[in-house]
Amino acid sequence: MRILKFGGTSVGSAERMRAVASLIQSDEPRIVVLSAMSGTTNALVQIAETLYQNKNQEANALIDALHDKYKQVVEELYTSTEKRKQANELLITHFDYLRAFTQDLFTIHEERAVLAQGELLSTALFQFFLEENGIPSVLLPALNFMKIDENEEPDAPYIAKQLKTELEQYPDAKLFITQGYICRNAFGEIDNLKRGGSDYSASLIGAAADANEIQIWTDISGMHNNDPRIVKNTYPIAELSFDEAAELAYFGAKILHPSSVTPAKKKNIPVRLLNTMEPEAQGTTISAESTGGSIKAVAAKDGITAIKIKSGRMLLAYGFLRSVFEVFERYKTPIDMITTSEVAVSLTIDNDKFLNEIISELEAFGQVEVDKEQTIICVVGDFISTRSGSAFKIFESLEHIPVRMISYGGSKNNISLLIETRDKVEALTKLNEGIFERNTSNA
Ligand code: ADP
Ligand code: ASP
Ligand code: MG
Repeated sequence: MRILKFGGTSVGSAERMRAVASLIQSDEPRIVVLSAMSGTTNALVQIAETLYQNKNQEANALIDALHDKYKQVVEELYTSTEKRKQANELLITHFDYLRAFTQDLFTIHEERAVLAQGELLSTALFQFFLEENGIPSVLLPALNFMKIDENEEPDAPYIAKQLKTELEQYPDAKLFITQGYICRNAFGEIDNLKRGGSDYSASLIGAAADANEIQIWTDISGMHNNDPRIVKNTYPIAELSFDEAAELAYFGAKILHPSSVTPAKKKNIPVRLLNTMEPEAQGTTISAESTGGSIKAVAAKDGITAIKIKSGRMLLAYGFLRSVFEVFERYKTPIDMITTSEVAVSLTIDNDKFLNEIISELEAFGQVEVDKEQTIICVVGDFISTRSGSAFKIFESLEHIPVRMISYGGSKNNISLLIETRDKVEALTKLNEGIFERNTSNA
């Protein structure tokens, strides 16, 4: 079994959907995971925001505009009057469902149902297209097998069991289509795997089906060595280890959802990042093998809050760090970076939902300082086998940028630095010049 996930741009128009249909043709069994058409989830987020604010007229106008966009897609995608009629009826069902929320109380539960419409629409329209073109396929509802538990973590055993049950219903089928991103939660309600979550769906489905490969098809030819939205002269990396890719995804490389490498790594399933616009390009292969010996890439994660706790009690005390960590554990807030000295500990979080509660508990240990709008710059590579001098090259590149924290040695794949977000563009640019452009033989 092979898993092929296509992102928003890859299914973003009738033309793109046609291209996907030709890319997925094969005699091997495959599950195709689709995102919502590009722009749709953003539009649904906006619709949900206006519904929260009871701006019903505005919400209706946004829903009508999105409906019109989809009517256009239907016009362009199908050739037969019958399929167009069928597809337009489907649109009416989904858009009337959205319109009905203007009459209702709007809470987080309704919001999640709104956000799910994008993937439900893209997969249903795509399935109609395959039917019209005589390509046999089965539409599998992700809501029947994708599930998160009470900690919002995927329920892997449930997913594996339910997916198997679903697949067994179609012993002769070779091609399955399903939705990325959407799932049910512990209460059986519609939920999702957070923005960009279709990659995570593909990896979870791959692990559940014991797939031999997971392909993530997007609008760029693989993982680049730096953020192509910010830095010029970036290039795709042919091979990454699971750990390297996981660090890059977690620390801001948008091409992959932060958690999407883990399920594939657990089952040792190679993940390939491929470009729908350039299918013959090599892309990136992520596997257990590391090519080693180099600094491979840089990524940046914004929205970080730094917390420093200064305490005389830390001096020679054991158990101090545990007490600090327990505060974060109580508020289910993960820590990304940590550095310590004899009198202080600094750490970073990206979820500041419980920041006030956390600060007031930490104040029991000492003086607490908080800085927002920080960015983690993550440099990924193999820092054990690489020649010495990696850290020098990094710091030399960042000579004129104030660095607030440095984390080196926690993992052999990662050196992380904390800077102010306003310095991010300069930091990424300087690192590109200093590491990848100036001396490519060392890069
Ligand atoms: P999809 O809709 O297919 O999931 P995304 O927009 O989520 O696509 O991810 C692809 C985008 O990620 C690229 O267009 C690129 O702008 C951005 N990106 C950010 N960092 C990187 C990186 N290091 N390598 C490749 N792409 C990156
Ligand atoms: N459609 C969702 C989003 O835009 C999930 C995804 O594209 O991966 O975030
Ligand atoms: Mg994405």
